[in-house]
Amino acid sequence: MRTVGLKKEHLNRYPHELSGGELQRAVIARAISLKPKFIVCDEPTSMLDVSVQASIINILLNLQKNHNLSYLFITHDLEVANIVGQRFAVMYGGQILEEGNKIMDKPLHPYTELLVKSITMKEDIEHINELLDKTEIEIKKSNNNGGCKYYHLCPYHGEKCLKGAPPVVEVDENRKVRCFRYI
Ligand code: SF4
Repeated sequence: MRTVGLKKEHLNRYPHELSGGELQRAVIARAISLKPKFIVCDEPTSMLDVSVQASIINILLNLQKNHNLSYLFITHDLEVANIVGQRFAVMYGGQILEEGNKIMDKPLHPYTELLVKSITMKEDIEHINELLDKTEIEIKKSNNNGGCKYYHLCPYHGEKCLKGAPPVVEVDENRKVRCFRYI
């Protein structure tokens, strides 16, 4: 309890008597009580205020350092991903499109490019999300059977991108991308 910043009196409280940040701390305390080596953190900061987010991330990073933990950290927040992540995988339409170290510094897949752009152009995030929703609808309506799932939004698309699934290309030992452009 102390490790995650909770007090003894929190032990006797029901979940509805805890704040969002306290709930997350309780969940982390419960997870580390089993002395795991690996923890899946699924959107651990998504419902929290920015200041509480920062304290939860600090707790997770300290625990990682002190207990030699590995995390699979799932998030929609790229800034949080950049702080926590060492190795990244970008997913779209149920597939990993790009994977590796430092992919935010030099994105290879057009979807990763778009996501990185959304960090620097915050006002466009809504527009990008609208585009992505529209794209999913277009894909469902289209004849894209087995072609690239990102075809309708991709500025680089070509004929072959609709003919078959793009292969996963190993660009170097730390980078993989699912796209015809890298063959
Ligand atoms: S495979 Fe083609 S459509 Fe898909 S991301 Fe690459 S260039 Fe774009």
